[in-house]
Amino acid sequence: MKANAYVQVTDQEGRLVLRCRCGHVLGPASESYKRLSNETRRPIQAAGSCADPYSIGEGRFELREYACPACLVLYETEVALKDDPILDDVLLDLEGEAVDRAQA
Ligand SMILES: [Zn+2]
Repeated sequence: MKANAYVQVTDQEGRLVLRCRCGHVLGPASESYKRLSNETRRPIQAAGSCADPYSIGEGRFELREYACPACLVLYETEVALKDDPILDDVLLDLEGEAVDRAQA
C-alpha cells in the first residue's frame, strides 16, 4: 500500500510504518506522512512568478513543502491560509486502501 509515489507502508518488526523509497522510516503508518516529513513554509510567491504577483492575498497564503528528512525528495506541496492546519489529503485505512480525501 502506498501513501504517495514515494512513501509506502511496510512491516517493521511486526508494526506497520511509513517508509520512503530511500529506506528511511518516517514513523507509524497510522500517522499522516506530511506530519512526519520535513515541512517548509514560505510566502506564496515562492511558488513562482504567477503566484499572487501583486500580493492580492496580502500575505494570507503560504506555500508548504513536505520532504523526506533523509533524502530530501519532495513528497508534496500545498497552498493554504497561514492559519490552516496541515491539509491531510491522504490518510491510510490500514484495513483497506489509501483514502484520498482530496477526492472524497
Ligand atoms: Zn527519502
